[in-house]
Amino acid sequence: MAATKIALVGLGKIARDQHIPALALNHEFELVAVASPHHKLDGLPNFHDLPALLQAVPETAAVALCTPPQVRYEIARYALEQGLHVLLEKPPGVTVSEVMALAQIAKRNGVALFASWHSRHARGVEPARAWLRGRRLRNVAVNWKEDVRIWHPGQAWIWRAGGLGVFDPGINALSILTRIVADPLVLQAADLSYPRNCATPIAARLSLSDAHGTNMQVELDFLQTGPQTWSIDIETESGRLNLSLGGTVMTVDGHEVQTAPVMEYPGLYARFAELVGTHGIDADIAPLQLVADAFLCGRRIEVDPFVE
Ligand code: NAP
Repeated sequence: MAATKIALVGLGKIARDQHIPALALNHEFELVAVASPHHKLDGLPNFHDLPALLQAVPETAAVALCTPPQVRYEIARYALEQGLHVLLEKPPGVTVSEVMALAQIAKRNGVALFASWHSRHARGVEPARAWLRGRRLRNVAVNWKEDVRIWHPGQAWIWRAGGLGVFDPGINALSILTRIVADPLVLQAADLSYPRNCATPIAARLSLSDAHGTNMQVELDFLQTGPQTWSIDIETESGRLNLSLGGTVMTVDGHEVQTAPVMEYPGLYARFAELVGTHGIDADIAPLQLVADAFLCGRRIEVDPFVE
């Protein structure tokens, strides 16, 4: 089978750190061009936007959209209407309705749509899901605390409406939680801390529950200095599970469980290749829905302005 010719749209941090190396390892795709307003990739044709790219490189069959979320829907809609297979970076949209619309447009055009959640491909996630199957949960504590100045330098879009603020990393925790816990999760309450000069929160505390009424507390913080924490603790009636380092390391009752050495973005592109092969749609909105619900019911707390 010939490799699917793919283009990257949005040449920023995640495109360079993860998408380009993952595509280099995957023989089912061939990276043929890049569209990004300012940045260019050496050795490939570069364009300002997707229409210009498709005019010059019409053999492009798929795109991976690595832009900030605020511009993703219009680019995705255009790409699907042009008959391209589309991979969306997380979050898949600024609103839930955008993602639902994209799934319908993909179906109508008979092309693949993958609303990717890279953290779901972390090596501990599927083993954790298997371990939890059939176990009754007692308590869940999620702590996702990082220093925005280290991990998101200069990314002003995070603080604009639709940029999600602390939910930009926090939605990764929710993508893991909604994958490993079998029951649907329900958001019950949220406290959202907004810097006075930003449109999005810098910290959040969520209360969730499952169908059995399990208490689930989610703490998100963008001002964590010192050790950074991306951790999920789940106490069950028969043992305690911890996923740390963003889903990479799994322990049960304090003992590390050896898991297969899978990697997030290679796993993500393997899944996209499957969807391209079947023209399938994988667009799970559950993590984005929980964030949307937090914005719907959250109590707003004003905090000090954020200055980078
Ligand atoms: P970033 O470094 O700010 O890069 C985003 C890039 O998008 C910019 O370089 C910009 O290109 C480009 N862009 C903006 N508007 C565009 C448009 N209309 N058309 C085409 N390109 C456009 O952000 P990032 O960290 O890569 O994050 C991008 C997405 O990936 C976000 O949704 C984020 O949540 C997700 N993500 C990020 C990380 C991470 O560690 N950073 C991890 C996983 C997922 P120019 O510079 O050329 O203008």
